[in-house]
Amino acid sequence: MNGPSPRFGSVDPAMQEFLTLLGVDVTYVRAEENTLTMLADTGEEIPVIDYAGGYGALVLGHNHPEVVATVQSFLTARSPILAQASRQPAAEGVITRLNGVIHREFGTDEAYHGVFSNSGAESVEVALKHAEFDRQLTIRELLAEVEGHIGEARAAAARGAALPAQDADAGIEALIARITEVNTSVAARPPLFLALEGSFHGKLVGSAQLTHNADYRTPFAAMAGAARFVPFDEPERITKIAEEERAVLLDLRVDADRIRVVEREFPVIAAFFLEVIQGEGGIREVTAEAARTIRQACTAIGCPVVVDEIQSGMGRTGAFFASSAIGLLPDYITLAKGLGGGVAKTALTLVSGARHRHEFDLVHTSTFAKDGLSLAVTHTVLDVLEAADGAAYRRAAERGERLKELFGTLLADHPGVLRETRGRGLMLGLEFRDLSDAPAPRLAEAARSGLLGYLLSGYLLRTHRIRTFPTASAVNTLRFEPSIYLTDAEISALESALRDVCAKLGAQDEAAFFGP
Ligand code: PMP
Repeated sequence: MNGPSPRFGSVDPAMQEFLTLLGVDVTYVRAEENTLTMLADTGEEIPVIDYAGGYGALVLGHNHPEVVATVQSFLTARSPILAQASRQPAAEGVITRLNGVIHREFGTDEAYHGVFSNSGAESVEVALKHAEFDRQLTIRELLAEVEGHIGEARAAAARGAALPAQDADAGIEALIARITEVNTSVAARPPLFLALEGSFHGKLVGSAQLTHNADYRTPFAAMAGAARFVPFDEPERITKIAEEERAVLLDLRVDADRIRVVEREFPVIAAFFLEVIQGEGGIREVTAEAARTIRQACTAIGCPVVVDEIQSGMGRTGAFFASSAIGLLPDYITLAKGLGGGVAKTALTLVSGARHRHEFDLVHTSTFAKDGLSLAVTHTVLDVLEAADGAAYRRAAERGERLKELFGTLLADHPGVLRETRGRGLMLGLEFRDLSDAPAPRLAEAARSGLLGYLLSGYLLRTHRIRTFPTASAVNTLRFEPSIYLTDAEISALESALRDVCAKLGAQDEAAFFGP
């Protein structure tokens, strides 16, 4: 069949046009380890080395044999996939195993509860909803306390206790009415979320507001809770934002024979979200020092720290959780991508016992969440990652070091073309210099329109059979997120491809990228 007929519509037409423009509109017909097999127009099957790694989902590569075997035997055994509202020991098992990993990596004995969902953005939505649910219950508890104190003050006033000077004439009922009016208006304040500049947390209605890229966020701003963005290198700004946003409820205290009005801190900020290695923001790492500042500031405000490990988690950085390497113990953790072993679409939000609200599970459910097949796959992923005392994590770290060494050498050899390499383990970025003022006009134009990285992706695919893409919001940075099974030969192929790209960019050879 030829292209889609306008009569029947098509899938993502704008995206398809974009892929065609970049020359990456190819069809893949097979996938194994780090290889995607492309179907040429001639019918020939051409292997492509996949450094995009399902944008981080393929920690174990395409169609990992143990994952495939799990799916096959699960289906052969006619095991139940959808048996909602029943006991699900496989789900409990995943949570138990992940708690074991958390306890080992963070040195805590906190118990984390889990809410399963179906995609990365959805697990962020669960975190958003849980944080707001918690905030609402906290507000309700606060208002109930205030109500109790109002009753005590009324009784004290009847016994002749003195009112504050400004309320003495109007009397206790007027004072109560004033307080109640203030509290009603403050309690209606919507939640405010904090996130780091450059962050990417998804594109659903709530999560899009935590995604810094304005194109994805601003058209939908009216639909969800707002976020304020904290500069990446200035986490101490959290405290200043909290001061600017501070709100208080009014409460009454009876001390001996005096009734006083006191302020109670009102929870405005519902949660702080961050990726400890920003994926779509250009592979930028939060330092251990920044993590300490974030933790202290959030504890002082009383808001939970939500660590989005959707891309960084599941072992690719050399530990199961990237946040463990910088000692940032999260209150919530979101996981997706690698949780499904490159096969299942599954996600999970973990909430610490100290923060978890028991009632939440009854108000948030999803038809496909916790399906039997995904859970079986996740168990296999955990088997593979945890086998041989964590050999997979060591392998991710070692392969990552090899790639990082390569990027270091390329940076030294091509300082005029390359700017920086960032990240750790198998979550690496290589940033190209901004070529907006390059002598070659078409290269400069591509750079000015934010297309340089995509142009390089197209060239790498067509000329070198290497697949990678720029990160979504830092478009001069190419991402490298292959599986832990990356071979030396695949690294060598990348080296010659990147050396070629650097040489051609250095020589301003725009015909190589655009054609003559
Ligand atoms: N958070 C992070 C850190 C991500 O990298 C992504 C996906 N790139 C998401 C959330 C959203 O995940 P999904 O595409 O599965 O909705």
